[in-house]
Amino acid sequence: MSDQHSAHQSFETLAIHAGNTADALTGAVVPPIYQVSTYKQDGVGGLRGGYEYSRSANPTRTALEENLAALEGGSRGLAFASGLAAEDCLLRTLLSPGDHVVIPNDAYGGTFRLFAKVVSRWGVEWSVADTSDPAAVRDAITPRTKVIWVETPSNPLLGITDIAAVAQVARTAGARLVVDNTFASPYLQQPLALGADVVVHSLTKYMGGHSDVVGGALITADQALGEELAYHQNAMGAIAGPFDSWIVLRGIKTLAVRMDRHCENAGRVAEMLTAHPKVTKVLYPGLPDHPGHETAAKQMKAFGGMISFQVAGGEEAAVEVCNRAKLFTLGESLGGVESLIEHPGRMTHASVAGSALEVPGDLVRLSVGIESADDLLADLKQALG
Ligand SMILES: *Cc1c(COP(=O)(O)O)cnc(C)c1O
Repeated sequence: MSDQHSAHQSFETLAIHAGNTADALTGAVVPPIYQVSTYKQDGVGGLRGGYEYSRSANPTRTALEENLAALEGGSRGLAFASGLAAEDCLLRTLLSPGDHVVIPNDAYGGTFRLFAKVVSRWGVEWSVADTSDPAAVRDAITPRTKVIWVETPSNPLLGITDIAAVAQVARTAGARLVVDNTFASPYLQQPLALGADVVVHSLTKYMGGHSDVVGGALITADQALGEELAYHQNAMGAIAGPFDSWIVLRGIKTLAVRMDRHCENAGRVAEMLTAHPKVTKVLYPGLPDHPGHETAAKQMKAFGGMISFQVAGGEEAAVEVCNRAKLFTLGESLGGVESLIEHPGRMTHASVAGSALEVPGDLVRLSVGIESADDLLADLKQALG
């Protein structure tokens, strides 16, 4: 931990200082990019600072991992080459053949594909539940359930799961609760404090924040589990490289101010869409009529920058809106400073077609950026026609 930070400091301060120790040799205020694979030993086994080989540990990655642990209120953070690499490491650490997992009925398409096409081949069973209803989660549990997986807000339907309530269900069942906190970021929501065992991030999204890096993370408060995950991170090897670690660490420094603006802009966009005659439904947890609004208000600092909406005229009309947008860039991913628009059914969620996670064809998803809200509203109005 750096000398500038302590655990009781506020989020904005930790985002900038946790893990960011001034360089011992030069005093550089930003951790250098240690672009190196191996380390000179002072005699056999004489490691300097514990560094031996960069798959096992690298100082730039250590800086990011300490920062991530501090922001989520955990004891251990681990950084990976992508969000899915982090998920893969987590699942192969926690699960053995014959085990069972409860997964949400709305989730990132790649997460579903990892369960359905990869992990299932190793004899892991899964069932789908509406995690916004803790009773439905309880009903889906079997004697072999080891993991309950939750994404809140969920992708792309912006469903909200009561983390504390599902944590209670998981504890009773002796299962571990995993929360994918990618949509909220730790600035808006801290699942470990609500009883989750592990937090998952795609660092590609709000954490990096500038659409210029792919990365993932696991954070836990359980020291023994943290050790186990670190062991598997090294054993499997899908680590975040030094440059990627550095650029995520850089992005995180502005997370708090970026998220404030994302939330503010998304609130204005949601309000405009709600009143628009071509829009049949707006899915945003900040709207009072959203079924998860009260839970979101309880467990989140604000409602985030992601909005989905359904348009009159069905799938073709939704695709047309995506094609007509100009300032909103047509593209996958989310959480960057620039606004994005996409058609989940044909893009990010094409892999869940025909499953219980299939998304409506008339759905459009927005990642509301931090440009001028007036410009964003004008672009959406022209795209809706
Ligand atoms: C993007 C995303 C992932 C996967 O992360 P990658 O960095 O693309 O591997 C997982 N969960 C959510 C909610 C995501 O948006």
